[in-house]
Amino acid sequence: MILDGAVLGNEIKKEVQKEVEHLKSKGIIPALRCLVSSDDKSTRVYLNSIKRNCDKLGINYAEVETDSKNIIKDVKTLNEDDKVHGVMLMHPVPKGVDEISVLSTLDPKKDVEGRTPENLGKILLNAPFFVPCTAQAVVELLEYHNVPLKGANVTIVGRSTTVGKPLSLLLMSRNATVTVCHSKTQNLIEKTKHADVLVVAIGKPKMFDEKWVKKGAVVIDVGINVVNGKVIGDVDFDSVSKKASVSKVPGGVGSITNAVLMRNIVRSARGI
Ligand code: NDP
Repeated sequence: MILDGAVLGNEIKKEVQKEVEHLKSKGIIPALRCLVSSDDKSTRVYLNSIKRNCDKLGINYAEVETDSKNIIKDVKTLNEDDKVHGVMLMHPVPKGVDEISVLSTLDPKKDVEGRTPENLGKILLNAPFFVPCTAQAVVELLEYHNVPLKGANVTIVGRSTTVGKPLSLLLMSRNATVTVCHSKTQNLIEKTKHADVLVVAIGKPKMFDEKWVKKGAVVIDVGINVVNGKVIGDVDFDSVSKKASVSKVPGGVGSITNAVLMRNIVRSARGI
């Protein structure tokens, strides 16, 4: 089976569009502001895709240029602006700026990416508010396809704050038994080939072929790698899809991640 993310992503976006229309009828225009402090190429690609999604759904989008001197002040200004509902702090932050201090300044209710210490802490307390969109996307993809999680052995490869760590908590709270692996994990294949559900998020093109995967497992490929101008995942799809259910790249987790971000902006505009 292929775990399609595009269908779910489109369903979420349709709901978002309806909600935007409803909010607009009440005089509220959902608005996102992106704090930008560099001309990094991949950040620009990401910003353009966010803008495209906002434009399509009727969400007001603008960038706020900032620098090391003004970044905290700019975050405070956006916190206080009632017409702004979501704020994203783009990577990389200016040299010499402590990212955690900036994120700690951001109002958790406008933290639509789920990156502030408060929102991350709430996941730990099993009371999630805004959750990192990719981790949320993986959970929704699994639930959409009715993948049993209770008691399942789940292996996650990758322990970043945006994917692996929050995802491990979200799946634990759904009663999965979770193993989290990373670059220092010994004998990685022993951890992946017995998993009922395998989530890979490391950024190594096609690293996981069928020998890493149990027959009948569910494999979620979070990886996004650009090779010769083509976007491919961390999973060797042709090899793994012969023995397991697997999500596509593109058209898998990434399609849902964007939709979740848009939904968070609208939820913030609605007052959750
Ligand atoms: P990070 O670089 O922050 O984290 C990568 C993780 O992978 C780290 O925990 C690292 O271990 C681990 N790792 C790296 N190499 C290996 C290896 N050979 N074996 C085992 N573990 C390894 O990346 P992100 O979490 O931000 O992103 C991961 C991938 O997901 C990327 O391809 C990225 O483009 C993609 N992505 C996709 C999104 C989507 O919506 N589909 C959104 C966000 C990211 P250690 O901690 O020890 O360094």
